[in-house]
Amino acid sequence: MDSVSCHLVRRFPSIKEGDDLAAMIEDRFALRDGDVVCIASTVVSKSEGRFKRLEGYSPSIRAQKIAEELERDPRFIQAVLDESEDVLIERPFLLVATRFGHIGVNAGIDQSNVGQGRILLLPEDPGTSADRIRGGLEKDCAVIVTDTCGRPFRCGVAGVAIGWSGIAPLRDWRGKRDLEGRELEITLEAIVDEIAGMANFLMGEGEDGNPVVVVRGLEYPKSGGRIFRPRELDVIRERLQEKDRRS
Ligand code: GDP
Ligand code: MN
Ligand code: MN
Repeated sequence: MDSVSCHLVRRFPSIKEGDDLAAMIEDRFALRDGDVVCIASTVVSKSEGRFKRLEGYSPSIRAQKIAEELERDPRFIQAVLDESEDVLIERPFLLVATRFGHIGVNAGIDQSNVGQGRILLLPEDPGTSADRIRGGLEKDCAVIVTDTCGRPFRCGVAGVAIGWSGIAPLRDWRGKRDLEGRELEITLEAIVDEIAGMANFLMGEGEDGNPVVVVRGLEYPKSGGRIFRPRELDVIRERLQEKDRRS
């Protein structure tokens, strides 16, 4: 891999439920086999009709309590709880694990680029969404569904992969050696996040209207590996929950 290029796919309209993203991408960009097509989860969600109205939620006692403390709309908190399998911390923001394994603030529910009084849930299972979109492409490409996320320990949001298809999420360095012949300590590299970060940088966060980036020239493994850390191996998650229960 000597060089890689990243291309914004221009002229995307506002996405509606039922839109065929695969066809829309191929209409606007001449894909080639091997390209990695990165798509903002926002438009995947829109095409899957994941819009909700806040009026549709009746907050539970628990949602009301959290909402009061966070000074948020209790209906929004209920939406977050409905999308969650597990709550990691409740204060000073709601950090949860989604059913498909991703951990994020407010379950990744967006209020930007959505419209007044409306929220947009993440796709129910972005991996399945990626499979479907990839299956709809004429060319043999990989697909990564991205989202902008905050991160512990570091300031600033960044793009991460929340679903993928046709690409292994991790690159395995096990058994490889460094320049001095020492066996590597770093074994697994989260390549889908690395790609998603660059794609997200090009998409921007605002009104640019650029939800798709094609990355060309990458060599990547096609299958295997998992990104979402199994709960029993997630030390930080365990400590957070212990602390949250005590406070
Ligand atoms: P997220 O990172 O997946 O939450 O998505 P963002 O809301 O940050 O949007 C990423 C990019 O997609 C930005 O350039 C947005 O302007 C753009 N975008 C979001 N929704 C639409 C849409 O319906 N149509 C188009 N053309 N662009 C969109
Ligand atoms: Mn988002
Ligand atoms: Mn974003």
